[in-house]
Formats: sequence, C-alpha cells, structure tokens
Amino acid sequence: MTELPLRGGCLCGAVRFEVTAPLASAGYCHCTRCQRRSGTAASASARVQPGSFRILAGEELLGAFEPRGGFAKVFCSRCGGALWSQDPDDPEVIGIRLGVFDGDPGIRPSTRQYVAYAAAWEPLPDDGLPRFPEARPS
Ligand SMILES: [Zn+2]
Ligand SMILES: [Zn+2]
Repeated sequence: MTELPLRGGCLCGAVRFEVTAPLASAGYCHCTRCQRRSGTAASASARVQPGSFRILAGEELLGAFEPRGGFAKVFCSRCGGALWSQDPDDPEVIGIRLGVFDGDPGIRPSTRQYVAYAAAWEPLPDDGLPRFPEARPS
C-alpha cells in the first residue's frame, strides 16, 4: 500500500505539494502539446480526487502556460520542471505528472490517448493498454 499523503515537487525542490487521497486515474498522453511541453514522446499524468491537492511550498514560483481550449500547464519558473495541468474552468480538476512524485504514486497508467499524434521516433509499447486516437472518453 502506498502511504498517504503522497508528496512531490519540482526539479529544484522549491515547489512542493501533497495529495491526501488516492489518485483517481492515470494515463499516457501522446498529444503534440505534451511532446512540446515535456520534450518526450508521451506524458504520464494522474488525476486527483477533488479537494485532495495542496501546495506546500513555492506557490510564488509557479508559472503556467494556458493554451486556448486546453488545461493550464503548470511548471516551476525557477527550474522549468513540469508539475501538473489544471482545468481553467474548474481548478479542482488537476492532473499531476507522474514523474514529480517522490515515491510510488500508487497508481499505474491505464490508457493511452491522442495516439494519432504519437511521435514517429518511439513506437507505442505493446503493453495492452487501451489506445484512443483522440482524447480518452471521460
Ligand atoms: Zn523548481
Ligand atoms: Zn497531452
């Protein structure tokens, strides 16, 4: 069992956060925004349960890229580390990048979305996860 709260932070350590309830779901995103944002082929994120996310330190360092028609991409302005995405219409809807947790976040990605845009240089792994050409159905 993964112990709660889950904690994590950015690369330089200035931004710290905690999650006080088990993560709700997790998946890989292969969209071009995630490729550009992360510099990688896909990004793994997990949705939090509403009300379970809290910033512990470094709130003043948070930056956000807010694309039209998409979630805000929140990062640390000191180190550039990607942290989470946030629904501009409902700030309780947050998807934390799995790589920023201190330890095992206790959840595994269960879907792959936007695979129609998957990077040419990295084949999709044959992991049996459901694949969606566009956004995964909610
Ligand atoms: Zn940082
Ligand atoms: Zn994406």
